Amino acid sequence: MSDAPHYMCPVCGFAELIEPHLDPTGSPTYSICPCCGVHFGADDVEKTHAELRREWIAEGAAWWSQNEHAPAGWDARRQLAAARFSDGDVGAAN
Ligand SMILES: [Zn+2]
Repeated sequence: MSDAPHYMCPVCGFAELIEPHLDPTGSPTYSICPCCGVHFGADDVEKTHAELRREWIAEGAAWWSQNEHAPAGWDARRQLAAARFSDGDVGAAN
């Protein structure tokens, strides 16, 4: 446990990233979201976050990282519902 700030993944809405996807100057940090596996600065160059979100959901919205485990009780649907994506696209077919 730490008091370090957490950041939300703009693709999957995972809210416990230890690094933001952009640094204060707006450059990608090249971090990887343990939840959806998006590599910021690489995967999101050619595709929008909404496109990557739709792909992640289409592939089952599964936890990505093998090294970092999902938080207890993690639920992709709840995470997506709770996220306030700036692009307003929850990627859900509803
Ligand atoms: Zn993510």
